[in-house]
Amino acid sequence: FGLLRRQDPELAQVLLDELDRERGGVQLIASENFASPAVLAALGSALTNKYAEGYPGRRYYGGCEVVDRAERLAVARARELFGAEHANVQPHSGASANLAAYAALLQPGDTMLAMALPHGGHLTHGSKVNFSGRWFDVVPYGVRRDTELIDLDEVRDLALRHRPKLIVCGATAYPRLIDYAVFRGIADEVGAWLLADAAHPIGLMAGGAIPSAVPYADVVTFTTHKALRGPRGGAIVCTAELAGRIDRAVFPFVQGGPLMHVVAAKAVAFGEALRPEFAGYARRVIDNARALAGALAAEGMRPVSGGTDTHLALVDLRGTGVSGAEAERRCAAAGITLNRNVIPYDPEPPAVTSGIRVGTPCVTTQGMEPQEVAEIGALVAAAVRDPGVAGKVRERVSALLAIHPPYLSEY
Ligand code: PLP
Repeated sequence: FGLLRRQDPELAQVLLDELDRERGGVQLIASENFASPAVLAALGSALTNKYAEGYPGRRYYGGCEVVDRAERLAVARARELFGAEHANVQPHSGASANLAAYAALLQPGDTMLAMALPHGGHLTHGSKVNFSGRWFDVVPYGVRRDTELIDLDEVRDLALRHRPKLIVCGATAYPRLIDYAVFRGIADEVGAWLLADAAHPIGLMAGGAIPSAVPYADVVTFTTHKALRGPRGGAIVCTAELAGRIDRAVFPFVQGGPLMHVVAAKAVAFGEALRPEFAGYARRVIDNARALAGALAAEGMRPVSGGTDTHLALVDLRGTGVSGAEAERRCAAAGITLNRNVIPYDPEPPAVTSGIRVGTPCVTTQGMEPQEVAEIGALVAAAVRDPGVAGKVRERVSALLAIHPPYLSEY
């Protein structure tokens, strides 16, 4: 870092300012985490220099013997971590992983069933502004109005009526467990492939804190940077039967050369997740999310579906009269970073929303306990209700961060 500071002080300052920002507030974005210094070291390594199109032992470039070892380690550890028959660790992101998985299983114009974006699905699950909505005939399913849980009867009815080639389960803002066994049954009934997009809960599955999608889905796509706590990136695990199709879809269909420094960092993160401590981390993430959801509920901010089984809560703010966008701004002013989010059947547009999404991967990595996270819930509620208390909330946030700093040095 000293070298960067001497050569390019302007950019070095950006790095320092972002580090200060991450350290200077409570990070409740459900899709973020603090990667370990070991993961950051792999990311900042000479492996970024190497072209390695292809797969270990069958590359289209010379000089890949060393980076092959990194990819073999990442693949072996991913397979061990998830009990998977095959792993591909090259997708640059969750969106690339989904693009590759669809490319492996579908042709343009094919029908797929996936969760609607306004009910918690992801852009890559068939949104019109995304390739998935343009290239496939997407039938959306959602949550029930009364329970706010995935309507499995609707999923089955739609599957029987539309006979999709692929069913996608997984979401970006769904606080409850997904019943992969039921989805498997529906997919089998209509002869569809089952893809679990586990970008959000994969870290909890890695730690054994929630049931895994891997035994049920033909393909599981995920990101490595959320609760899993690795580098920004994607990965795919699948059955041995689909291994060749998935590999050919990632390269050469969707991507060119893999980012070998990121592949190495994924290996580091999978190694960390294989350690026994990670199981404790995954459990604590959920305990903390429950504490957070409970504290918000006690303040009249209703968790959608009544609570959470995972790392995140989706919160209905209609009882407060404050929109999601305004809540996001007020919390930011008080040193708490979170995002506005539509809630199911939201009357407000996505730029405004009636809800916020909060998650606990970051605060748990920092070592916070449920009672501290419950206090953060009360601070969120105070900041949302009254912008006048931002300064007081920020003081309390600083006190909590002083006990639990995310990074101790400039790594
Ligand atoms: N799938 C789901 C369910 C997600 O929540 C996300 C990201 O939040 C993605 C895919 C895409 O991941 P990325 O942002 O790495 O492309």
